[in-house]
Amino acid sequence: MFQVQILGASAAIPTNQHLPSAQVVTYHDRHHLVDCGEGTQMQLLKYRVKLSRLDAIFISHLHGDHVLGLPGLLTSMSLYGRNFPLKLYAPSALKEVLDLIFKQTQSYLVYDLEFIPMEDFAPGEVIYETPRLQVTSVPLNHRIFCRGFRFSEHSKRPKFDFYKAKALNIPNSYFGLLKQGVSITLEDGTEIHPDMVLHPPDSPLSYAYCSDTRFQESLVDYIKDTTLLYHEATFMHDMLVRAQETCHSTSHEAAQMAKIAQVKHLLLGHYSARYKNLTPLLEEAQAVFPHTELAIEGSIFKIKDYA
Ligand SMILES: [Zn+2]
Ligand SMILES: [Zn+2]
Repeated sequence: MFQVQILGASAAIPTNQHLPSAQVVTYHDRHHLVDCGEGTQMQLLKYRVKLSRLDAIFISHLHGDHVLGLPGLLTSMSLYGRNFPLKLYAPSALKEVLDLIFKQTQSYLVYDLEFIPMEDFAPGEVIYETPRLQVTSVPLNHRIFCRGFRFSEHSKRPKFDFYKAKALNIPNSYFGLLKQGVSITLEDGTEIHPDMVLHPPDSPLSYAYCSDTRFQESLVDYIKDTTLLYHEATFMHDMLVRAQETCHSTSHEAAQMAKIAQVKHLLLGHYSARYKNLTPLLEEAQAVFPHTELAIEGSIFKIKDYA
């Protein structure tokens, strides 16, 4: 299972329909929280996301709509009695902010919060890795230091066709060699090549989170061929000047990025509160890149559906 659930998709000001940025990327049974705007912990409760399965939090930048939900969430996990470490990837200044809040509110955490400053990593560098998944840093162009995150599966192994192997009368003791790509010779002299019993592996799936950022073509180097791309679309293109002034993107630009990066599918998000109806943003993007959807709170996107 590899999916993303949207918890918040508004820009700086929340509305009745939308909360500030937050989403949960789940790989098998492990959760990874990406950004943590106000209200995130209530959204986690609402959508029954088990905090016992939360391994790491990734904060893109320190604007309030991406981080103000974090102190409450961290202290709640302490009150729930979390007793295993949590990794927190964020701009280095967040450490100072959290330390001050914890000190002045007399809060303390009963678990180990491992703070990892994003400035320590070069653009494109692997920041987090498990046996099957890795996360790389994506440099974004915003008013303050800002990083996106690309979650990608490691290359998969070819699939062994057990039934075909049995049909070819291959003894079980040879299966290991064939899975490793080694040819074998049966006792009757028959040669068996690995490709006779191995199917090509599925392509690794990937998900990239790019919020907040001005349109910049160099982003392509970090998100090319991504299966599902979340790209901010704060404004429609008639507000391009405003988007550029505030270091945000338009819906048209998000679609342009999806197109040149040759991603499979695009998710729009980070909507300005001025848009009560998001259909025009969606249509503007789809005119450039048809495979586009809106990120809406609660919705789940399974990455394999877009492979
Ligand atoms: Zn924002
Ligand atoms: Zn911002």
